[in-house]
Amino acid sequence: MSHCVLPGGTLGVLGSGQLGRMFAIAARRLGYRIHVLSPESDTPTGQVADKEIQASYQDLKAVEDFAAEVDVVTFEFENVDSQTVEAIERNTRVHPAGRVLHTTQHRLREKNFLQSISVPVTPFAAIRSQEDLENAASTHAPGVLKTAAWGYDGKGQVKVEAPTDAIAAWEQIDRAEAIFEKFVDFNQELSIVAARGQDGECAFYGPMANLHENHILSISVCPGGFSEKVTSEAQEITRAILEALNYVGTLCVEFFLTQDGSLLVNELAPRPHNSGHLTIDGHRTCQFEQQVRAIAGLPLGSPAQIKPAAMVNLLGDVWQNGDPDWSSALANNNLKLHLYGKREARVGRKMGHINILSDTPESAKQLAVSALQSLKNNT
Ligand code: AMP
Repeated sequence: MSHCVLPGGTLGVLGSGQLGRMFAIAARRLGYRIHVLSPESDTPTGQVADKEIQASYQDLKAVEDFAAEVDVVTFEFENVDSQTVEAIERNTRVHPAGRVLHTTQHRLREKNFLQSISVPVTPFAAIRSQEDLENAASTHAPGVLKTAAWGYDGKGQVKVEAPTDAIAAWEQIDRAEAIFEKFVDFNQELSIVAARGQDGECAFYGPMANLHENHILSISVCPGGFSEKVTSEAQEITRAILEALNYVGTLCVEFFLTQDGSLLVNELAPRPHNSGHLTIDGHRTCQFEQQVRAIAGLPLGSPAQIKPAAMVNLLGDVWQNGDPDWSSALANNNLKLHLYGKREARVGRKMGHINILSDTPESAKQLAVSALQSLKNNT
């Protein structure tokens, strides 16, 4: 049943980073009020919210009070304790639902779910004992050992070149419950960002072509240059996932395209995604506005693309020689600068991104790369 929160209502967001910030900006444009809860203060989301509550996610009294004041809650990250989600669910509506977070915050549950609906995934094995590890390493090495819970941007991951490296790799992640994935010699990485409304309507962006550096997304390009077959397969897999989860909100599916042209799902993100940031300038309705519309029970907006677009992340590394050369980058009329209001630029920290629109995806990508270079040339 659809439940509508009309503009003027209050949306709550748990987590206060850049995803919450861009969600809040989209929500405010539509006339909503925003409350945010996280353990920090003066946060990227708090800076643009009506109310910033500083509390631990484990402080269930604070979480309940926060939930009771808003019409619906969403999350900007998936690693939320089930007790916290339940405290919210006792007081207000939650999208995506707690059971979706339960599935997607744990790599083994997520992979088992995907297999149960016949979605192709990287060959994997569950690791709960040394025996599991020895068996998996002998069949799957070279591979990647990943903690089952609490992983993102390559955190909690160790590459295992040969079966003899497996124990040392497991020690590195404190012998935690893990997943051993066969290493995929992929041709390309891609993602579909999608939204599903309360009425079951779906909207798709991409596939975006994604380039990573040190496990962190560096550049996304849309259109990603994929065949019609790959595009429709990736969208149909995403639709199947949204429907099986009875999902409401924005979600991203990350894929590997293998050398023989087949798609494997790497992972799901039950929220707007870094590869969808280019939709803010490149598409009629961006991924964040879709999240607002979906959780508020409004119709989704058009996901049509306006122009080929590329996004490049601005990591703290760009600040290594002092403030970046904003004026030369901003002299480019095709460039849109998005900064997240973070005070301290640390290496690897996502500080902002640039979106570039151009006549072709290739030139958008090239312009994005040279804009990044010109920002670094600040000495
Ligand atoms: P993840 O946190 O699982 O998305 O992994 C981060 C990045 O590590 C991915 O985007 C890939 O570039 C790389 N990666 C992760 N798992 C694998 C795998 N099984 N085979 C090859 N590369 C991988």
